[in-house]
Amino acid sequence: MKTNVLKTLKIQDINAGAFAETALKSSGALLESVSPIDGEVLAKIQQATLADYKQVQQQAITAFKRLRLFPAPKRGEIVRHMGLKLREHKEALGALISLEMGKIHAEGMGEVQEMIDMADFAVGLSRQLHGLNIVSERPAHRIIEQWQPLGVVGIITAFNFPMAVWAWNAFLAFVCGNSMIWKPSQKTPLCALAVQQLLHEVLEPAGFAGAMGLVIGKDDEVGEAMIADTELPLISATGSCRMGKRVGEVVAKRFGRSLLELGGNNAVIVMDDARLDLALRAVVFGALGTSGQRCTSTRRLLLHEAIADNFIGKLLKSYEQVQIGDPLDNKTLMGPLIDRDAVAMMQQALGQIKQQGGEILYGGEVLSGPAYKSGCYVRPALVKARSDLPLMQQETFAPILYVTAVRDLETAVVIQNSVSQGLSSSLFTESLRDAEYFLSAGGSDCGIANINLGTSGAEIGGAFGGEKHTGGGRESGSDAWKNYMRRQTQTINASLELPLAQGIQFG
Ligand code: NAD
Repeated sequence: MKTNVLKTLKIQDINAGAFAETALKSSGALLESVSPIDGEVLAKIQQATLADYKQVQQQAITAFKRLRLFPAPKRGEIVRHMGLKLREHKEALGALISLEMGKIHAEGMGEVQEMIDMADFAVGLSRQLHGLNIVSERPAHRIIEQWQPLGVVGIITAFNFPMAVWAWNAFLAFVCGNSMIWKPSQKTPLCALAVQQLLHEVLEPAGFAGAMGLVIGKDDEVGEAMIADTELPLISATGSCRMGKRVGEVVAKRFGRSLLELGGNNAVIVMDDARLDLALRAVVFGALGTSGQRCTSTRRLLLHEAIADNFIGKLLKSYEQVQIGDPLDNKTLMGPLIDRDAVAMMQQALGQIKQQGGEILYGGEVLSGPAYKSGCYVRPALVKARSDLPLMQQETFAPILYVTAVRDLETAVVIQNSVSQGLSSSLFTESLRDAEYFLSAGGSDCGIANINLGTSGAEIGGAFGGEKHTGGGRESGSDAWKNYMRRQTQTINASLELPLAQGIQFG
């Protein structure tokens, strides 16, 4: 399986950690891509150095100068071909995500589909980068808003969506006329290389080989160089709040723009009138999907006290039935965590939870045996906790679900909003009044608010992102494309006079 996937994607011999117009021969330290499925090394990659970064950056700058003048619908046509390429290789790309990152096959395939959806969306958008026409107070004057490309966009991605998050950014950035440099997580370099290599087959004949660059390297070397680079007007960074704080500070210091998609701490509220069957399925998917390693994973469950015991009983039954194992086995619902460090972090969190008065109702153990030899498999944990449990304020990137009983919706919303992150939120109810309260300005303070569906699994058509420490960025659908462009207000005077605005007489 492994060999086949690497061969199909033509990455079995690739060891370049930097890619511009072609793969660059780098001299950086070797990086091992280790599969969390069995702990085996999938490939070794020669990482990018600062010198490689500079080459990638130079080629991206050159490509931008041509790309910005190439008509947007034609840029869209290139992205259309990229979408076709992804469709052709969907199966292998999906399998590679499972092999390198550990998410189950269905989710790996879903991630590739998300890239395809983004490509389609960007193609349509390439004919709709509309600005406004604004009436002028002066005779024979016209004001228009023109959206212009920005330049070279830096894209930093997290390990948990090793392909799709790049696509959210890259396809929009490209149709908007920008070139880009991608710095993926060091935990998932092969996913990035595979995408880079495939799409290069489209970019090169189109004449824009240097427009999508890649650097796989250390955070304190190429990462820091990239965020401090004044040639990159926008850094779009997805990852932890800790990383976002650093990126935000460095980029702001040089008056660059940052687009931050950071950690979540998402809650589902289930009211006493809710359809419990729906809520149960949504909570199980939200908490266990991608082994609790989604930014939108359900981490807190706020149950109306009238249904709390009943719902916890149902949840326990579901948790007991979850098949944990090889993510490429279709019966598996939960694969491994990304690495042993993630497992250790989860164990540490569970220890703290106990000290802080939380009651572990189920799971949390590290699994052992031949099927789990990588040491990355855990049983998901269900924890009964008071709403003021300190650890519940943090995002632990693992399948730990805190359950708290609440008196009423107002209390639930206060608890939900009390954490520093503000990504996704969800309410299960049959009451129109409660739903409207949740969606009102006094309700959920998150970037995403759902009624009768869970916190994770967003469609690409909406703008995706969150408030507070989640960073405030919006990517993917709606008008997120505006992040990759600069707005220019243009005024044209077709008269033979020079009237001043606000009626000012001068001279
Ligand atoms: P991470 O913060 O450890 O790393 C994310 C990326 O930032 C990696 O590519 C890393 O190499 C890079 N990075 C770290 N320090 C850097 C620096 N100083 N300069 C430049 N780059 C630097 O996150 P992770 O463990 O890969 O991913 C999990 C986190 O990402 C979770 O907090 C999750 O919620 C978040 N996430 C958020 C979203 C969202 O859309 N809001 C989506 C996916 C993941």
